[in-house]
Amino acid sequence: MGTVTIIKETTKNPITLMGERAGVCWGANIEDESKNYARGLDCIKSGHHRVMEYVNVEMIIDGYSARVIREWYTHLGGAPTRLQASTRYINYKEFDYVIPPKVAANEEAKSIYVAMMEAITKACSELEGNCGIPREDAAMLLPLGMSTKIVDKRNLRNLIDMSHQRLCTRAYWEYRELMRDLMKALREYSEEWAYLVDNYFLPKCEVVGYCTEKKCCGRKPYKEI
Ligand SMILES: Cc1cc2nc3c(=O)[nH]c(=O)nc-3n(C[C@H](O)[C@H](O)[C@H](O)COP(=O)(O)OP(=O)(O)OC[C@H]3O[C@@H](n4cnc5c(N)ncnc54)[C@H](O)[C@@H]3O)c2cc1C
Repeated sequence: MGTVTIIKETTKNPITLMGERAGVCWGANIEDESKNYARGLDCIKSGHHRVMEYVNVEMIIDGYSARVIREWYTHLGGAPTRLQASTRYINYKEFDYVIPPKVAANEEAKSIYVAMMEAITKACSELEGNCGIPREDAAMLLPLGMSTKIVDKRNLRNLIDMSHQRLCTRAYWEYRELMRDLMKALREYSEEWAYLVDNYFLPKCEVVGYCTEKKCCGRKPYKEI
């Protein structure tokens, strides 16, 4: 459905870079790439996660709903930044939108859902065309299910923290899908990324060993407190 494209400014060898940054502070030989790699690995295994903030990730996230992007923006740690497609100047009279799988699988629900999207398209078009309302005002009708595009920049530490929240079974399904697409894109970017994704992008219950949510999915037991 949506796509995550990792941009070339993303750190190609994140573990090596982390080891190089840490090596500066330890007076180590940072010219040796294999030692940098080993030092980087040691840092993250030991929980010295500040070094993760040197690992840059820049990506284009396209085709997910404005709703899930709104949730994406709640991850503020590390001062991430982003650009988002404008709702003022782009032609949204015929906008794309996400159809949730449960709606798509139910014929009656799908026809109600699609009819509403078409009604919004028609209303936007009539407001602008017949009534002379500026697009920026007609755009107030656009739904959260409308798909959008962002250019996003953040660091590894932020993304690992995000994975703990958003790979949880209780997280919104589209966010879990976005996380899986992001993890696939990063895995394909380099071998070092594949290692990080496979070992550190985990739901929070896998990190702490028990469920922290009020309603548990059963993957891990509750902790008696
Ligand atoms: C099942 C579920 C339901 C949810 N429901 C809602 C909901 O109803 N409404 C809603 O708004 N969100 C909801 N969320 C989102 C969630 O509560 C957080 O808002 C989101 O995960 C981002 O915040 P964060 O602290 O996890 O990440 P970040 O903001 O990226 O922060 C990461 C870490 O950095 C540190 N940090 C960040 N900012 C500060 C600061 N100012 N001071 C000190 N330390 C800081 C903290 O250690 C924090 O854990 C839900 C999430 C899940 C999984």
